Amino acid sequence: MKTSTQISRRSFIQKGSIATGALLLGNAISALAKGKKMGVALVGLGYYSSGQLAPALLHTNNCYLAGLVTGTPQKAVDWAKKYNIPQKNIYNYQNFDEIANNPDIDIVYIVLPVSMHKEFTIRAAKAGKHVLCEKPMALNAAECRDMIAACRKANRLLSIGYRLHFEPHTQEVMRLGQKKVMGKVTTIETGNGFTYGGDPNAWRLKKAMAGGGGLMDMGIYAIQGSRYTLGEEPVAVKATQEKTRPDFFKEVDETVFWELKFPGGAKVTGKSSYNNNWGYLHVTTENGNFELDPAFGYGGLDGKINGNPMKIPNIIQQAAQMDDFATCVALNKQSRVPGEEGLKDMRVVDAIYRSLDSGKWENI
Ligand code: NAD
Repeated sequence: MKTSTQISRRSFIQKGSIATGALLLGNAISALAKGKKMGVALVGLGYYSSGQLAPALLHTNNCYLAGLVTGTPQKAVDWAKKYNIPQKNIYNYQNFDEIANNPDIDIVYIVLPVSMHKEFTIRAAKAGKHVLCEKPMALNAAECRDMIAACRKANRLLSIGYRLHFEPHTQEVMRLGQKKVMGKVTTIETGNGFTYGGDPNAWRLKKAMAGGGGLMDMGIYAIQGSRYTLGEEPVAVKATQEKTRPDFFKEVDETVFWELKFPGGAKVTGKSSYNNNWGYLHVTTENGNFELDPAFGYGGLDGKINGNPMKIPNIIQQAAQMDDFATCVALNKQSRVPGEEGLKDMRVVDAIYRSLDSGKWENI
């Protein structure tokens, strides 16, 4: 944690973006009023940490990149230089637990393959740190429950990297759907995916490390999208799948299609893929329609209401997400995307996999 005096020394790299800052001004003032910026340690310095989270941490107001956890010594050297991280705040996966003795680190952000989320969440909580964990939260709902219990026992906050909850197009969709602004939602059609052309030996294609394929990685956004549009929890699901490259997707799903039953009766269909570039959320209501397309990425969302542009600015989602969690930590307040939110999605994912096996409707 840094005091205001220490903050001013780093302020040249930590001045927040006006767009993000303006949206979170109320929260930011609360955290900063306490004269503290929360120190974040990134665990796993791969694609998402290096391309999105570390750059976003240069635009946060309430937190800053204070530490690193990596298994690659050269990354430690390169990142320390690039982000001005002291050697004493750099750990590897073996000595990670010593982070307990480091007052600079308040929040540990887990950005590892899915099979490592549970272990590092529990180790971080035991080390007395608050935890941000990337999506999908874990391999299955049972692991999510263990993570929630461990953080509760350690009296630490847990939040999942659901950046879209801090994103204004998404917040507009939540408002329109949940408040029934255009009448009740009758239909949702959503899909998320990309054409996987990467390394055939990558962890994302190994069931033991990824838990599944396109459904775990991309489908989780479409499931979330349906849940936050309606503000309801689904009760049953029926799913089917298709594989056009079975040699490539030997262990994990390629494309999955599902229908979800919600208590309010909306007809909700979704799909996920590692073989199609999808990313949309189309919603029909009693009195009209609204949509996001793109709906789930971080390269800029776009939306329409009854065919007319939403005209909402894009923000740095990750900066807004991390600033919000830092404020939650400062105020000892539950995040709007706590572990329980990750668990809800994983219960749906588990039921989809059960339905793929049984060929029947499965209760969630
Ligand atoms: P990545 O493969 O690029 O990075 C994973 C990191 O984990 C690497 O630095 C790697 O060295 C490290 N690692 C440690 N042990 C490993 C092992 N045994 N095998 C493989 N790697 C190991 O992955 P990524 O794309 O950065 O994804 C990491 C997490 O972030 C995933 O949970 C993913 O779903 C999530 N993610 C989220 C978003 C988002 O928009 N919220 C975007 C991308 C990724």
